[in-house]
Amino acid sequence: MNRLRKSADSALCFLCAALSLAACARSPRASLPAGGAADSLAASRRGEALAGAGAEARSLALELAGESYEGRLAGSAGGTRAGDLLAARLRAAGLAVEAAEFPFEQARFPAAPRLELIPAASAAAATTAAPPAAATTAAPPAAASAGPAERSTKAAQAAEAPPASAGGGEALVFRRDFRETVRGGYPGGEVAGPLVLAGSPRDVFPAGAVLVLPGAAYAASDDDLYRARGAIGLLIEALENGPAVKPLSTALGPRGARPGGAAFVKFLLAPEAWKRAAALAADKGGARLSNPVEFRAAKGRNIIAGWNGDGGAFDPALVLVAHYDHVGADPDGQRFPGGLDNASGAALAVVLAERFARARHPRDLAFILTDAEETDLAGASAAAARPPFALGDARVVNLDMLGAPSRIDLSVYSNGDARSLALAKELVQLLGAEGLGARSEYPVPTVDHAPFAFAGAAAATICEFERAVYHTKADFAERLDPAELDAVAAALWRLSGAR
Ligand SMILES: [Zn+2]
Repeated sequence: MNRLRKSADSALCFLCAALSLAACARSPRASLPAGGAADSLAASRRGEALAGAGAEARSLALELAGESYEGRLAGSAGGTRAGDLLAARLRAAGLAVEAAEFPFEQARFPAAPRLELIPAASAAAATTAAPPAAATTAAPPAAASAGPAERSTKAAQAAEAPPASAGGGEALVFRRDFRETVRGGYPGGEVAGPLVLAGSPRDVFPAGAVLVLPGAAYAASDDDLYRARGAIGLLIEALENGPAVKPLSTALGPRGARPGGAAFVKFLLAPEAWKRAAALAADKGGARLSNPVEFRAAKGRNIIAGWNGDGGAFDPALVLVAHYDHVGADPDGQRFPGGLDNASGAALAVVLAERFARARHPRDLAFILTDAEETDLAGASAAAARPPFALGDARVVNLDMLGAPSRIDLSVYSNGDARSLALAKELVQLLGAEGLGARSEYPVPTVDHAPFAFAGAAAATICEFERAVYHTKADFAERLDPAELDAVAAALWRLSGAR
């Protein structure tokens, strides 16, 4: 049965042709041993076929997390180099490989966001709404009352040496005290106004205020309400995932931007910095916020590879997916290595493809290394929207963050549909048999399996979500545990039907 899409474009037809050639060139199909008596033979073959796979995956992950790939931001030169490397490895292993480009919107920060807390002395001068003349005349009387408090605050903070700001306030340190937020898709810009401690959009606050919000009281769904009531900025207390984390998902994307509308800036603050902002709010201080985020049209590139194991029409029953992109670098050039997220999964998928090919796997297998996962699953969505083969009967297993040294349980995420849940259950059992604790969690539609499940496949993600390093500059591939990667590889080997 030929299940290749009739509407496949020329690039995808190239994949079909290449797969047919690969089928002609390969040796006769391997025969499968049958029955329970073959189990120990299968285990020893598996052990032989996968020997050293975890260490090899770790070493490929080390390369991907290295300097020359610049944090693998989708659409960047470093991201392109990472895709090229993986495609070359898959080609060298004898798989048919194609690159499929897709457009998406990328959030970029041409400069670091800035946040300055301004004592009451200068707060009036900083307020956006204040006309320039009023600003200069308002400053002297306020300075007399707020001066000593400002000096003692400065003395207390001198040990940490926060940068001084031109306006006499305290410039907080990006990624130590605060971070950008992208989710919500607001366009950023620069705003300044009085700080007001608030707990909900129903609180009373003046138009033009920068609201200081306790983390527990904040819901992203309230953004529109805060904005409609005249708030120009939000300083939100970070309860988890602190300032070191770089977010990239644009969620609503640039669609959240109101063309011609006023700027609106949201930052997440570390608890200590947030307390200083809250104290300043009580003291009638202000803040100046600058978030230079911009959304640009970019091109992502999925790497799609096929192994035609049965020599007939390409009809993969198993598709391994892993995103190879990460969140890039900060404006100062310091990269986020993305070792666990997701050099680990991409490397393991490629090493498995190599081992399957070397063992002349008797079934059709596909590998999709997705790009721009970090931006709203853009690559997986593009691949699922125009798959190079029918997805209906395929089982899609996405690998995202594997081999964390912390030995937390693995999560097996799915959308929660019956077929995906059955796949998740099987994965939990297979991982358990390899000594890995795992549990099925659903619905989790925010990982790369989701678009494939929405397109009709049974799909699940295996993930070891280690919050401590997630999207930080400490996500080093050196930390990856080859033994755990070996165990995941063995579970996937069994799922593939190889014996
Ligand atoms: Zn990520």
